[in-house]
Amino acid sequence: MLEKVLIANRGEIALRVLRACKELGIKTVAVHSVADKDLMHVRLSDESVCIGPPSPAESYLNIPAIISAMEVTHADAVHPGYGFLSENADFAEQVENSGFMFIGPSAETIRLMGDKVSAIDAMREAGVPTVPGSNGPLDDNNERTLALAKEIGYPVIIKAAAGGGGRGMRVVEDEAALLKAIHVTQTEAKSFFGDGTVYLEKYLVDPRHVEIQVIGDGRGNAIYLGDRDCSLQRRHQKVIEEAPAPGIPDEIRQEVAQTCIQACKNMKYRGAGTLEFLYEDERFYFIEMNTRVQVEHPVTEMVTGIDIVKEQLQVAGGAELSVKQEDIQIQGHSFECRINAEDPDTLLPSPGKVQLFHAPGGPGVRVDSHLYSGYSVPPFYDSLIAKLISYGSTREQALTRMQIALDELLIDGIKSNTPLHRELVRDSEFQKGGVNIHYLEKKLNI
Ligand code: ADP
Repeated sequence: MLEKVLIANRGEIALRVLRACKELGIKTVAVHSVADKDLMHVRLSDESVCIGPPSPAESYLNIPAIISAMEVTHADAVHPGYGFLSENADFAEQVENSGFMFIGPSAETIRLMGDKVSAIDAMREAGVPTVPGSNGPLDDNNERTLALAKEIGYPVIIKAAAGGGGRGMRVVEDEAALLKAIHVTQTEAKSFFGDGTVYLEKYLVDPRHVEIQVIGDGRGNAIYLGDRDCSLQRRHQKVIEEAPAPGIPDEIRQEVAQTCIQACKNMKYRGAGTLEFLYEDERFYFIEMNTRVQVEHPVTEMVTGIDIVKEQLQVAGGAELSVKQEDIQIQGHSFECRINAEDPDTLLPSPGKVQLFHAPGGPGVRVDSHLYSGYSVPPFYDSLIAKLISYGSTREQALTRMQIALDELLIDGIKSNTPLHRELVRDSEFQKGGVNIHYLEKKLNI
């Protein structure tokens, strides 16, 4: 078992990891920038180390500073949370080369999944359904590319192998625009990501975003913890997530899940991971795998009763998974609203001092947040300040509880997107379930 874990992150996820460590009797080290000394988890950790100035490049992304902090505090392992260094294979490698444990998959797996072309290849080999496309990088044989796009049918999408965060993608409506779009995407990809490799796939017009949560023990055993629907998005950012994804026939869900498990077994996948799919006309299409814990993991925890962060810690410590596939049952329904410090109209970040924070409560309500009255939200980082999670024995009950919880939530002093959430959980189409990824932007007219 791990004895001391350094948490290389901030905000709500750092607090989430700290809580899981405490439950397992693991000591904690918080690292923070000078702007973050008042973070809740810094106060609650056994030790803390300031690793640099506010700018993420000089603190939370500063690999030598984090490894030095592990050395001086004698931590055994580092939990990277999500974002920052969580999917950085070089970080995972340097951590392990320095004699520490990286809580996540091996550097090799992170690298394989970080390149979308190699990720899709590995998935296809395991039988995971992928989007019809070039099955590999585009080369300079234009005739072949034009013929392929014609065969697949327009629209198509050109994507950078090294892309991420919604960048490095271009939709092409017709043949006349194809070659130019490939050229522009290659040039952009080279300058953004240092790798101009691009590939082509069919552009699905009105899909949903459905993802599958997996955990592996790193020795070839892997299980899946059901799925989540994250279709309610704005600018490729998820706004509300739910588990399970509504309205998916059970045989289709089981079939794709089996292929995901196979892919994880093939990779000897270690830790928590998510396979992201587009879902349209009762078919799943793999788009990418995230090799870390996700923001929306709590909805899965609510419907399975499994603590995903504790599983990550236990597996990293060399233990077996605490459950077998046959023990996992999806019960009830859960929603998560991402509460951001932002102006609901302009979407601009709204940092500043929180005069008053009152978290909702009651049956089936969970709040994952580092906020407290008097805390100042710094302007340097992601604007996520709280995750409001509801649970119910039915989808309807979970949604009603979310409505009540959102009405109880009080955040004074800074602006937040709470009014938007209050409106969305009362939206009649969302209430029915199964809206597609364009629904929110269409509704908001953006
Ligand atoms: P990133 O790593 O940048 O998040 P993804 O491959 O996950 O990139 O794609 C991000 C989003 O782009 C998806 O959630 C979806 O909205 C859209 N997208 C990607 N590929 C396709 C596709 N083949 N058809 C339709 N939309 C797509």
